[in-house]
Amino acid sequence: MQLTPPINHPAMALLDAEGCNDLPLGYLTLTETGLIITANATAADLLKTDQSALIDKPFEQWIATEDSALFQQRYQALLEQQQPQSFELRMTCTHRSPLMVKLSMKLRFLAPRAAPRVQVFFEKLSYDPILKQELALAWRQIELANQAKSHFLGVMNQEIRTPLNVILGYSELLAEQGEELQLPKHIVRDLAAIQAAGRHLAELLNNILDLSKMEANKLNICLEPLELKSLLYGVYQLNKEQADSKQQHFIYECVGELPDYIISDRIRLTQILTNLVHNAIKFTPQHKTIELRVERLDNHLQFTVADQGIGIAPEHQTQIFDAFKQVDMSATRYFGGTGLGLALVKKLVELLDGTLSLTSKLDQGSVFTIRLPLLLSELPDFSLA
Ligand code: ADP
Repeated sequence: MQLTPPINHPAMALLDAEGCNDLPLGYLTLTETGLIITANATAADLLKTDQSALIDKPFEQWIATEDSALFQQRYQALLEQQQPQSFELRMTCTHRSPLMVKLSMKLRFLAPRAAPRVQVFFEKLSYDPILKQELALAWRQIELANQAKSHFLGVMNQEIRTPLNVILGYSELLAEQGEELQLPKHIVRDLAAIQAAGRHLAELLNNILDLSKMEANKLNICLEPLELKSLLYGVYQLNKEQADSKQQHFIYECVGELPDYIISDRIRLTQILTNLVHNAIKFTPQHKTIELRVERLDNHLQFTVADQGIGIAPEHQTQIFDAFKQVDMSATRYFGGTGLGLALVKKLVELLDGTLSLTSKLDQGSVFTIRLPLLLSELPDFSLA
């Protein structure tokens, strides 16, 4: 309810309950002992009763038991110190429904030596401070649970990663020695399957760990001068073999004038672009084209990963950025994956103060665009030398 005039408006001092029915505040006058003498219509409305039912009743009976001590203390202070009192408390309406109010009380002396009257104004609060406290507590508990979850994930990650590395290491070793050991073809094939599954598991672990670190605000961005074209070429090289294996046409292009060195996070930027290129290759049929492009737009760098793949229907275009969301959520889906890649990409781009957007048409392809603020570096990155 929007209140005019406000509860502490000076005009309030002049009001009497009679003639105040239109006032958007509950207004009562009480005897010194707390009996209601007059009540306006709003007070009756707020307490879900009739004006006449309020008269001659102790005001205290409308105060919720939990706040009755608070009310008595403030009432005492009003009478003894003759200081207006204003505070929030819980009232109880007819039929025991709760009402949270902001309540103001002041003393009025109608004539010298006459017993004072107590003027009470109250307005309904649209929030419940107790609920607010409980919410804050619940938030704290969620935070603690989240920290515990992140800790658990970190420990589990380590516990899984150690034996996984052993599996990956030995299967690679065996595969390398395959010819020398004259292993039968089906064993070589099985070893490749073990390796592929192991790598998939390792990728899943990395993504889960990154996402949980990010949730716990523990994923730090490490800015450094880096050579832009070399970074892009690195991403191209990293994914070229996979694109070749699908006989896709993989193009990378540095468009127009580009700065030699920029300041960014080498690992995270590579991870973002690799994730997008990896998806582009995965969701694009053989012989089609994948493009990785960078260009400068005023104070921004724009990276584009475009494909001629299966495309994404409009209704899925926002969902796919949520963790574990895939367009095809069926157990028998054709494309592998965890549904974590894009969630991670989105969060990493945000950490770099950038934006990520998508345009896509079913069966025609998708374009993922990243814009990052351009931080220029004069310094060559000697670590590349
Ligand atoms: P994953 O690829 O591991 O399933 P992502 O989070 O990277 O997880 O992607 C989520 C989903 O978004 C994918 O499962 C797929 O349905 C859709 N998607 C992502 N990139 C593309 C793309 N280039 N073309 C078509 N669909 C895509």
